[in-house]
Amino acid sequence: MNLFTIFGNPVSHSRSPLMHNYAFRGLGFEGCYGRYQLEDGKKLRETFFALGLKGANITVPHKEAAFAACDELDPFARQVGAVNTIVERDGKLHGYNTDAPGFLRAIAPFDGRRVLFLGAGGTAQSTAVILRDHGYDVTILNRSAPRLEKFIDQGFACYTFDDFKPDTYDLIINMTSAGLTDDHLPAPEHLLTPLLPGAQACIDVIYGRETLFLALAKAHNEPTKDGTDMLIYQGAIAFEYFTDGAYGFEEIVPYMRKAFE
Ligand code: NDP
Repeated sequence: MNLFTIFGNPVSHSRSPLMHNYAFRGLGFEGCYGRYQLEDGKKLRETFFALGLKGANITVPHKEAAFAACDELDPFARQVGAVNTIVERDGKLHGYNTDAPGFLRAIAPFDGRRVLFLGAGGTAQSTAVILRDHGYDVTILNRSAPRLEKFIDQGFACYTFDDFKPDTYDLIINMTSAGLTDDHLPAPEHLLTPLLPGAQACIDVIYGRETLFLALAKAHNEPTKDGTDMLIYQGAIAFEYFTDGAYGFEEIVPYMRKAFE
């Protein structure tokens, strides 16, 4: 039996065990996936080996610690400095980032290439890089300045709420944790509302509840999309690594989707 887990803190809310176990069972792979609340990210590597794992996913706040724990890094994970998937091969830990490619697939149905990110955290960081690499024009709007520095260094157009110079954006995307457990908007309503008529869609990385951001978009008759597909797609790409390519993305996804039925 191959053992897998998700490391995070908190981790009790995660749908990853259900998603992966549905896929293991449906595809006939000998695997079992649990969850592990890890307090200290520095203990990730020793915990991984002590549990006898074949692979793991990593969620908040340990993605940078997971990056540091790996022996080998996929080029994209190295570029963005965050790992959410680890696979053990011959005693070595191989690290990948599947959040950003999962998000890229989730927005593929939309044509627009001009994107406004609300937020400048870890998820925005990896996602902005992959979107730009795939021809998107990404602007970042964040509540405060410090997190923007990394983006400015990488050449992204960046604003805080105080100096925002609005343009027309095809996709407006909530990359913050505003709305995760509260009813906050990711940016002030007077900044968001004028942008809505020019947008093709408003997208949220949060899943499992309607955020105030998506409720605002719906009230203005904007198409919306939440973070469910991103979660499923990052999971399916991780599953491909876990099973060393034995199953294709398209056959994994329907089993993972059952976790949301
Ligand atoms: P971080 O903690 O790294 O970043 C948080 C960001 O949110 C910062 O830009 C912060 O702004 C901003 N922020 C927090 N609260 C507010 C608020 N009330 N108003 C305005 N801005 C706020 O978070 P992550 O990048 O790790 O995660 C971001 C979101 O992505 C989370 O909601 C997470 O659940 C979701 N996610 C979803 C995934 C999926 O598969 N669907 C996968 C991974 C993440 P400031 O810099 O000013 O503090």
